[in-house]
Amino acid sequence: MEHQAIRGWLRESDPQRLEGLWSCADETRRRFVGDVVHLRGLIKISNHCVRHCAYCGLRGPNHKVGRYRMTADEVMACVRQAVALGYGTIVLQASEDPALTQGWMTDLVGRIKSETALAITLSLGERSVHDLAAWRAVGADHYLLRFEASNAALYERVHPARGDGGPERLALLSAMRQLGYEVGSGVMAGLPGQTYEDLANDLELFRDLDLGMIGVGPYLPHPDTPLGANFFPNRREPADAARYDPHLAFPAPGEDAGEQVPNSELMTYKVLALARLVCPRASIPSTTSLATLNRENGRELGLLRGANVVMPNLTPPQYRRLYEIYPASYPSNDPDPWDAALRQHIAALGRSVGTGRGDAPRPPNEPARA
Ligand code: SAH
Repeated sequence: MEHQAIRGWLRESDPQRLEGLWSCADETRRRFVGDVVHLRGLIKISNHCVRHCAYCGLRGPNHKVGRYRMTADEVMACVRQAVALGYGTIVLQASEDPALTQGWMTDLVGRIKSETALAITLSLGERSVHDLAAWRAVGADHYLLRFEASNAALYERVHPARGDGGPERLALLSAMRQLGYEVGSGVMAGLPGQTYEDLANDLELFRDLDLGMIGVGPYLPHPDTPLGANFFPNRREPADAARYDPHLAFPAPGEDAGEQVPNSELMTYKVLALARLVCPRASIPSTTSLATLNRENGRELGLLRGANVVMPNLTPPQYRRLYEIYPASYPSNDPDPWDAALRQHIAALGRSVGTGRGDAPRPPNEPARA
């Protein structure tokens, strides 16, 4: 699909034409990855963070967050739950926490691999190629690192560099591929400052990177972040984080109708559908952030408009509320219907639940990954 066509779809508002986009995405999903919905158990192992990302509530400078780091035994209890539920993959996700050392993670991945047949997806932010290689060597299968914005100026504004000259996200994505990881990436829809042109470029980059997994969801404002503070003008105390970097001032939603992409439910479906069309074989989750915008059937509509994966949250209840990348005050920060209900919802769509690892299929002329 050409750049102009992608841009056109992102701007499309005609309901009938959009029905055409949904059915095209659904048909492509069926043809390339079938009717199976893969469940991946999500374990959020730490919320300590050294980064200052302008969009994320877990950013280091946000002192209002109660921080936690799970023990290896706690993680293993969640892993056993994933096995008991018949899941094929677990996702170990965290904010960027150097205390999750290379050695600690290597032991954990090795332990999971020796005790289970689960595929392991890591999503631990920007780690050295050395770390990535060590974890791959003990059997980590996939790595998920959203590039967040292909527009370099926007990216630098919302994702200040770490300051130690660590590798760029795009360089890391290519290093992961060379190490043999199945590589996942993605963006938020409606990040303040994101234009239609930017988002169309993001979608083209999904294709150029030939992603095996694509995570997309709506940007949801968090009051204690530089970007989110603007969305909560009636809060009595100014958000601490807003003082951290005063030149991050984006217009409030609605003020800039022009090129700013809205962070809406509809926009998220468009991005999901277009992601399926540019990367037909990719594993694409119907995300929690989407289900947060439409608790009733956001997850199902995502599955009907391109997605083929759901990531139920297996994080222990006492930690869930603390992993607040966007606020828990949204209608539901944790909209996972529990296992039986989720399976019923999937069956009601005429789809079945996957039993294997659920890796993205490779094109027929390319060998499968080892
Ligand atoms: N620390 C890891 C994992 C981050 S959480 C990393 O940086 O890769 C996974 C994703 O949540 C992020 O990549 C980002 O795209 C998304 N996210 C962060 N803040 C958000 C917000 N306010 N609204 C919606 N999504 C958000």
